[in-house]
Amino acid sequence: MTVLTIKVAINGYGTIGKRVADAVVRQKDMQLVGVAKTRPTFEARQAVDRRYALYVAGQGSRSEFESQGISVSGTLEDLIRAADVVVDCTPEKVGTANRELYDRLGVRAIWQGGEKATVAEHSFNALANYAECVGARRIRVVSCNTTGLARAAALLHRNFGVAEWDCTLVRRAADPRESKKGPINGILPTLKLPSHHGPDVQTVLPGLPITTAAMVVPTTLMHVHFNHVRLERPPADIATLRSLFASQPRFVIFPGSAGVEGTPQVMEWARDRGEGRGDVMENVLWEEGIRLQGKDLYFFQAIHQESIVVPENIDAIRAMFSLETDAGRSMGLTDTSLGIRERPAPS
Ligand code: NAD
Repeated sequence: MTVLTIKVAINGYGTIGKRVADAVVRQKDMQLVGVAKTRPTFEARQAVDRRYALYVAGQGSRSEFESQGISVSGTLEDLIRAADVVVDCTPEKVGTANRELYDRLGVRAIWQGGEKATVAEHSFNALANYAECVGARRIRVVSCNTTGLARAAALLHRNFGVAEWDCTLVRRAADPRESKKGPINGILPTLKLPSHHGPDVQTVLPGLPITTAAMVVPTTLMHVHFNHVRLERPPADIATLRSLFASQPRFVIFPGSAGVEGTPQVMEWARDRGEGRGDVMENVLWEEGIRLQGKDLYFFQAIHQESIVVPENIDAIRAMFSLETDAGRSMGLTDTSLGIRERPAPS
């Protein structure tokens, strides 16, 4: 049997792009044809060290890379011509500006959550709406917070029905690599109410009755959501809920005995388990931080902003090319390749 191998290009090799590139090379049904960068930074050198073909994007110039001893394989256009799909991981709004180029060259494209939903035919989350995106030419993988909410919502809605959902998001101020963002002191409420996260989840799960509010705090270690969900058909007991979350591959649930008080210990746990960059691609819940009172479910979850969207990008490629029409099978392939299923839930 011939196995279809999809040729994948990554445009934008920063926080998300380098992680998606590393994930693509782990897939049997995908081939990384190269990555595009604008500047000859340490990350450009590391891409070459990883034997990724490097192409020059945006305002970058080949001579600038070569003067630093970094060899390049061509321009972004050359890269795209060699690819079946480009995963755009450029900063917010740059991705939308790139759409004209992708259209002109007739390549399929996947964008990230920094772009508006209108950039693509579908906003995507594997657990929530994989089937709708099978065969699509343009997909947007929603942002880190929206991915975390959409996963939880898909699970709860499918099993118990959701009558109402209020979420308060405590957002990290910057990624660990960033030195110019803040605040470094203080708490900044997002005064636009409700925040954009609720409507963004609805691009994946239309009609989900969710309202969100957000604030930014001085940390780089994950976002935390506090959720109050009114269920239509609540389970008989909290144990059913806990075991539902615990049985899902993209969820990790810490018992009290694990000594995980908050995001510092979650990140330490991730670094200690020794996968990749110490990433956490799962939604993180605390067993004791889940409460059920009648129809009202309360739970905290933490979201690792730098990596949670990585498996979703892989599943989006598989859906786009109909490599798998079943969400569960695609997620299984992705999770096994990234080590998600093999990681034991902490106990
Ligand atoms: P980043 O700044 O870490 O990386 C972007 C990379 O693109 C950088 O290497 C930058 O040099 C490069 N770049 C800039 N202009 C370019 C151009 N014209 N052509 C090619 N490359 C260019 O950004 P990021 O955090 O990886 O974000 C990328 C996208 O992913 C955004 O839409 C963002 O909203 C989304 N996203 C980010 C996070 C997060 O927390 N970092 C989480 C989920 C989704």
